[in-house]
Formats: sequence, structure tokens, C-alpha cells
Amino acid sequence: MGLKNNVAIVTGGASGIGRGIASVLSEKGARVVVADIDEETATKTATELPGEAMAVGVDVTDPAETEALAETVIEEYGQIDVLCANAGIYPSKSLEEMTVEDWDGVFDINAKGVMLSVAACLPHMKNKDYGRIVITSSITGPMVGYPGWAHYGATKGAVNGFLRTAAIEVANWDITVNAVMPGNIETGGLDDLGEEYLAKMRSSIPKGELGTPEDIGHAAAFFASEEAGYVTGTTLVVDGGQTLPESQLA
Ligand code: NAD
Repeated sequence: MGLKNNVAIVTGGASGIGRGIASVLSEKGARVVVADIDEETATKTATELPGEAMAVGVDVTDPAETEALAETVIEEYGQIDVLCANAGIYPSKSLEEMTVEDWDGVFDINAKGVMLSVAACLPHMKNKDYGRIVITSSITGPMVGYPGWAHYGATKGAVNGFLRTAAIEVANWDITVNAVMPGNIETGGLDDLGEEYLAKMRSSIPKGELGTPEDIGHAAAFFASEEAGYVTGTTLVVDGGQTLPESQLA
């Protein structure tokens, strides 16, 4: 499933899962826009991708910035075929310690940031009568709970709800909206958890290992492909089997 002649924006594309998505889409022939609040790392990532790419600094919580991102891409490449709304944060906070600022901070990036990125790209996709929107959700929230991540899990439930209605609203323009739901993926964002916690994570995964950013990239590339045009409003779990219920007979 090639992505030749496609232009793909990846928010949070500078590092971690976003970087994995950007490199798989680039390998498949897309011109990739690495859109990230960390412009310096985004520029480095863009230069390291195998295909044509550019970096754009953007804070996905700011509507003026997400609109400017879409305009810049149209000026530079003339089209937006794929949006991977991936930027997200996952600071840990227990319910006792959680403040309104903690709650709003996570929702601003993980939920509002997705809506704003989609809203900025939609007019250009509608103009072209084509679009593929891929959100990075999570198993956390919709499928499993982790103590300390109630606010984070709520944002991922929110985007899963968002995509179902969005998919219906844009279906007439051959625009699809789907989400990948990663399990535990090896990224810098997990560094703070410590080796003991990471070992516990690994032992809870039937495949025995954390996933890689490229594992998520390949799932995103499926949703991003022209061939997946009849797949919309749905999610794909990529978690090494972590959320599989174990048979009573096992
Ligand atoms: P990461 O911290 O490695 O990368 C996140 C990227 O987003 C960074 O480059 C950062 O600069 C960027 N970013 C942060 N705030 C931004 C903003 N306001 N505007 C634009 N860019 C911003 O994290 P990651 O692990 O790669 O997570 C990426 C996505 O994957 C998130 O949505 C996260 O919830 C989701 N996810 C991660 C895991 C995992 O195990 N790592 C599991 C499930 C879901």
C-alpha cells in the first residue's frame, strides 16, 4: 500500500510514536510534514526521513497555529491527503493530587489538539474530495485502567467518541477518520517510569516485549492508504495481545 503523491502531516512527529509514523509513511512514498511544538527536534527528524519532508513548529492547542500549519503545507505542497493527529502527553497524577490545571492540560493537547488539527485540515481535504485522518488513541481509558492516568484515559475515550461522529460528518468527501490504539510502546515518554515498572509492563504482554513506534506506524499507514477507503469510524488495537482476555482453560 504505497503513499506516493500523498502529503501527510504528523503532529507530535518529532519523536516517539509520531516519529515512527513519519518514517513508515515516508518509506511508503509520502511527503511528510513533521509538525511538533519542539521545532528543533522536528527539523532533525525531517532531515533524517528517507523521503522528501519538512518540519513545521506548531502547538496543537492553539487554533491560530493549527490553521497556520495547514496553510503552510498547502503553500509548500499544494495538498493535504493524510493527517495523523498524534501529539499527546501522559503525565501521571493520582486522583487525590489532580488539579484542574492537570486535567485541562492533558485535555488541551490530547483531545482539543486532535479536534483543532482535524478542523484545520478538513477544508483542504474537502476541496480535494479526499482525506485520511488517523488519530493516535490508546488502550488506556477505552480498554484498560492504569492508576495515575485517569485524566489521560479520559482523553483517549474522548477521541474515540470524537472519531465516530467525525467519520459520519465527512464520509461524503471520501474522508475517513480512524484511530490506532497502541499498547505500551517503547518511546522516550516512558523513560520516567523506571526499569522495575517497565519490567512489569513487559511481563503483562503476551508478545513479551514493548511495541516499537514503527509498529504503530504500520497500522497508521493502513488507515492512511487509499485502499482503506471503506474503513472509517473504527479503531485498531496494536498491543502485542496485552488486552486479550485469557481463556479460562489457559
Ligand atoms: P513522546 O513524548 O515520545 O512524543 C510526543 C511528541 O508530541 C513530542 O515530540 C512532543 O514535542 C510533541 N508534543 C507535545 N505537546 C505538543 C503540542 N502541544 N503541540 C505539538 N506537539 C506536541 O510521546 P509518545 O509516547 O510518542 O506519544 C505519542 C502519542 O501516542 C500520544 O498521543 C500518546 O498518548 C500515544 N500513546 C503512547 C503510548 C506509549 O506507550 N508510548 C501508548 C498509547 C498511546
